[in-house]
Amino acid sequence: MIKMLSLPDGTSFSYEIVRKNVKNLNLHIENSGRVWISAGKKHSEGEIEKFVISKVDWIKKHLDRIQNAKPQLCYFSQEELVEKIHHFCMELSPYYREKGIQFPKIKFRKMTSQWGNCRPKQGILTFNRKLCYVPEDCVRYVVCHEWTHFLVPNHSEEFYRELSKICPQWKERRKELKEVKIL
Ligand SMILES: [Zn+2]
Repeated sequence: MIKMLSLPDGTSFSYEIVRKNVKNLNLHIENSGRVWISAGKKHSEGEIEKFVISKVDWIKKHLDRIQNAKPQLCYFSQEELVEKIHHFCMELSPYYREKGIQFPKIKFRKMTSQWGNCRPKQGILTFNRKLCYVPEDCVRYVVCHEWTHFLVPNHSEEFYRELSKICPQWKERRKELKEVKIL
């Protein structure tokens, strides 16, 4: 059910009520700008409206931020990204060959929760196609990170010790990457 809320300052926004088996009212705002409230069966529409009104400042701030978000900066075409990642892998390969690691199969996919992925047993590295939105140094960091998993499968201290050998700036790169929001 979609409701419209008009505010005293003349602006308005709509929100959707989604009935669920929940105890409390919860507010959700998606990156698309969709605002929705999960509500239990016992919550009346009036009660829900009051709840939304109590969150108006927060909702407006959020919607403003979404509307004013800068378009994502694309650093590479998909072809360039594939080429770049292959290039970084070729660079790392001799170092790893000495440690008994074969050149992996490299795959590309659109992923929502990770930049890359390593399956050491199968010898497969998968990279997120959305890395085209990430500066080159960070792409290299992701490549180094995933290769390091061939030696250490987890994120232990040993992992970061190994990663430092091929990517000493990993901490800065990781911080930079965390600031990139992929929609
Ligand atoms: Zn990892």
